[in-house]
Amino acid sequence: MLENTIRNMRALLGRRGWNKMANRIECRRQPEKCSSYPTDYWIEVTNRCNLMCRMCRRRFARHEEADMDESVFGKVQPLLGYALRAELNCWGESLVAPGMLEKIYDFISPMPVWMQLTTNAMLLTGRWAEKFLGASMELVVSLDGAREETFESIRSGARFPVVLNNIEKLAALKRAARERYPILSFRFVAMADNVGELPEVVLLAEELGVSNIYVVYLVAHSEEMRRKSLFYNRGLAREAFHRAREAAGAAHVNLWLPRLMGSASDERVDAWRRCREPWHVFVVKSNGEVNPCCHTPDLVMGSLKESSFDEIWNGEAYRRLRRALREGHPPPACLHCHMSFPDVNDESSHVKIVRTREGLFRGYEFEG
Ligand code: SF4
Repeated sequence: MLENTIRNMRALLGRRGWNKMANRIECRRQPEKCSSYPTDYWIEVTNRCNLMCRMCRRRFARHEEADMDESVFGKVQPLLGYALRAELNCWGESLVAPGMLEKIYDFISPMPVWMQLTTNAMLLTGRWAEKFLGASMELVVSLDGAREETFESIRSGARFPVVLNNIEKLAALKRAARERYPILSFRFVAMADNVGELPEVVLLAEELGVSNIYVVYLVAHSEEMRRKSLFYNRGLAREAFHRAREAAGAAHVNLWLPRLMGSASDERVDAWRRCREPWHVFVVKSNGEVNPCCHTPDLVMGSLKESSFDEIWNGEAYRRLRRALREGHPPPACLHCHMSFPDVNDESSHVKIVRTREGLFRGYEFEG
């Protein structure tokens, strides 16, 4: 009787829906070994980037540049039958590897999978705009300024007019086709140099048909950037957030601001305590390595070049991490997790000075 009910439910929900339900239960129960498959995939098309932004942690990475190869993606393909979400990047700018991005996008886009691509939009040409038109997708453009000089001083190597022109082209295509998708969004890393321009970014978003602006505080990884942190410039943040909120209220733009500093610190919750990523996320790096999340390169669960998915997903490294999080003994990488600010009023949330040591893309050491 029970077996019949389960069989009927499986048939009704299909393998994706059934896995979604099973995975939700496992995210709550936090077992060491998962019987469900991950629902969220990050596929690092490449770890290369065409820019060198001032705040980016890639500045400290001495990694071998790599684009994902077909053998690695071949191992990911069967898993995507269980996916609900797919991020088409991790640490690099995916548009610098157009061939591989196209292959991955073409494979996923016919599926009922929500895609997200974060891009600096320098290479978001008309060809890509046409390709992405109508896709179940959010394109998140990194835009850290409303003025050419500010933007280009932060995003070293980018050209403001090119970025705006590329967004405008895609927005115009959407308007002409009366298409809602892809959703266009901005991500704005707020620091002393640019936060005053946030209200202008709201106006720019409205003009360009950008729906969301995600504002995050700068996390300073160097002494140079420490001075730019809003932790030491709280008045600037308060004033700019207030003006941006007013501007967004008048425009058709969703503005997602971080908590203001100085507000009651009643939510001191260590990010790792809320973390369920090792139960539902599978990050595949361009070199085949697997991470449990995109917040640190330090947690390596295995390599798809050497092992199968099954060997990794319930292998020793994943099981050890799940056990550590569940039992409250997180590894150092989780203690420094970027997933959320444990406390906006705490300096250590804003400043994580990195000292590098020999290694590839991992090997960060934090002060303190
Ligand atoms: S680094 Fe953060 S997101 Fe990743 S597993 Fe640890 S707590 Fe979770």
